[in-house]
Amino acid sequence: MKLTLKIKLLPNADQEKSLLKTIERFNSACNYISEQAFKEKRFNQVKLHHVVYYSVRERFLLPSQLVVRAISKVSDSYKLDKKTQREFKLRGSVTYDPRILAYKLNNVSISTLEKRETIPFVCHRSDWLPYVKGEADLIYKKGKFHILQTVEFPEDKVKDMDEFLGVDMGVVDIAVLSTGEKMSSKEINEYRIKRDKVRASLQSKGTKGAKKLLKRLAGRERNTATLINHTLSKRIVMQAKDQNKGVAVEDLTHIRKRTEKKVRRAQRGLRSRWSFYQLRSFIAYKCEMHGIPFVAVPPAYTSKTCSNCHHIGLRAGKSFSCQNCGFIADADVNASINIATWGRTIGRPEESNMVCFIAHHRSGSKPI
Ligand SMILES: [Zn+2]
Repeated sequence: MKLTLKIKLLPNADQEKSLLKTIERFNSACNYISEQAFKEKRFNQVKLHHVVYYSVRERFLLPSQLVVRAISKVSDSYKLDKKTQREFKLRGSVTYDPRILAYKLNNVSISTLEKRETIPFVCHRSDWLPYVKGEADLIYKKGKFHILQTVEFPEDKVKDMDEFLGVDMGVVDIAVLSTGEKMSSKEINEYRIKRDKVRASLQSKGTKGAKKLLKRLAGRERNTATLINHTLSKRIVMQAKDQNKGVAVEDLTHIRKRTEKKVRRAQRGLRSRWSFYQLRSFIAYKCEMHGIPFVAVPPAYTSKTCSNCHHIGLRAGKSFSCQNCGFIADADVNASINIATWGRTIGRPEESNMVCFIAHHRSGSKPI
């Protein structure tokens, strides 16, 4: 499985100049190569190399491997079509590969125009560094340098699981597990309420400064939400691993609808903006890293079905009750148990009990 690791470089003033010069030179070279490619109608990397390599080396004094990468970048850019000449931003990305970029303990060794620089870096997932593989992009944005590095994880053989941990995602509690655990920590709610207050007061001001601040806050919120989603997904996947279970989540298409109906207008913005899609994708890739089966189940009946006898029951607010068997439970927990059951059905199709599951619905006491 391939993922991208974002690494922040911490260059000193001289290194900053050196990186920026390299970025600009690289992209100037790309523009030159693109012009030649378009003129000569040579777009294939190997053919283009024969046409431009030496002239690029001479004109731009780039290290040879960066010339190779520039030719490759240009060649790639013509893959979609060859009708218009491609142009590159002077401060666009530079492609690196292991020959010109290497990671040491806390430093990267990176080729620039004059020499290889050793630059300290920080990243949130240093445990991914052993899996670095293939190309990377050096990018410059808002005065900061980042490397977007491809990492490739060996895929653990996905184990065959008998049981699934069901996860019901929703607005009141972000995630409710089929074990009965609710993941909506106080911090998250407090954080959501606080940020909404700040936003409301800024919005009511409506000044230019307030708008600017709002934009900045939005960026910070995204980061905090991402961090919380990382924490939640990790807790869920680790729990599944400990219990030797797969993970089943509900298909998410209905969440926004449910959000809009259930939550008061004033709170709507804040809660519906929670990124369930991100949480789900984090759960999915963490499962893959640990070789845990991950399934998404169709949401059709998850909240209205009795997890005990599979008849259609009654969902009233936070509680669920079944007239058929008398089962009473927290509505979200009931839903997540259903998700877990469906997960097992989908995850182990050869032992499918889906047919009887659906049959129960058809004969259920309440048509939907
Ligand atoms: Zn029942």
